[in-house]
Amino acid sequence: MEKVDLIWMNGKFIPWNEAKIHVLSHSLHYGSGVFEGIRFYETHDGRTAVFRLNEHVDRLFFSAKAMQMDISYSKQEISEVILETVRKNNVKSGYIRPIIFYGYGKMGLNPIGADLDVCIAVWPWGSYLGEEMITVKTSSIIRIHPKSSETKAKITGHYTNSIQANQEAVNAGFNEALLLDFEGNVAEGPGENIFMVKNGSLITPKEGNILIGVTRDCIFKIAKDNSIEVIEKTLSLDELKAADEAFFTGTAAEVTPIKQIDETIVGNGQTGQVTNKLKTLFEEAIHGKIDEYSDWLTYV
Ligand code: PMP
Repeated sequence: MEKVDLIWMNGKFIPWNEAKIHVLSHSLHYGSGVFEGIRFYETHDGRTAVFRLNEHVDRLFFSAKAMQMDISYSKQEISEVILETVRKNNVKSGYIRPIIFYGYGKMGLNPIGADLDVCIAVWPWGSYLGEEMITVKTSSIIRIHPKSSETKAKITGHYTNSIQANQEAVNAGFNEALLLDFEGNVAEGPGENIFMVKNGSLITPKEGNILIGVTRDCIFKIAKDNSIEVIEKTLSLDELKAADEAFFTGTAAEVTPIKQIDETIVGNGQTGQVTNKLKTLFEEAIHGKIDEYSDWLTYV
């Protein structure tokens, strides 16, 4: 990964190579951290803006609440530090990783009493899935059950589920995994929400077994503003495989068209018209080219 100069840790900017933690940090052992993935972009006029900062900070605090974290910073302070971390590192576009985790001081499962560390790192990060169109393999493991954890929270421990699914798919020669829910319906990717297009309408799994993506929300808004019907429903794998078009969304993945699911080619195997339209408008929005969506950008 590409390094930058400084990482913000517990109130101070520290040189990248010195941003270290103790090996007996609680979250390293038990996955008791919460985090966000945020992107910032160079806008069409050469400035830099963080994309949907408020929504990401809101979700970070929601996740922290699920882990009973008593954060000594307000949402506004965290937002300001995020902007300052981007500014100080002088990067035009990239990825932001705020993480709050139970640190050193307690090794029992109950983390109360351990340090609560708050860190914000940024780095340049290009295309996440690496390809224009990707292949997807249905995972043999399911997305974490909504009664196993607060699945709407971005808790570090949840990602062992995502990692295993991704590794299985990649080892089988696919680009990414697709996780089903406990009833065998479509849930999401390891780090992406999924959409399909059928007869011009956009269909996506309803809330319940998925992380409620910020990018998913952008796609809803862009679709509705362009008279594309959005349907949130229980989606079977057979229905998905019969789609005209399909794509993943996520902060890292942005809008990534899917060309194949298991052995099935989606539609004609090319990026479909609706996907292309939404992807293009999303790209214009992140670069500040669409006035209607200017409130999605916080200029640094
Ligand atoms: N699902 C999971 C499991 C994720 O990790 C992510 C990435 N945060 C998403 C969906 C997409 O969410 P967002 O659009 O907010 O990045």
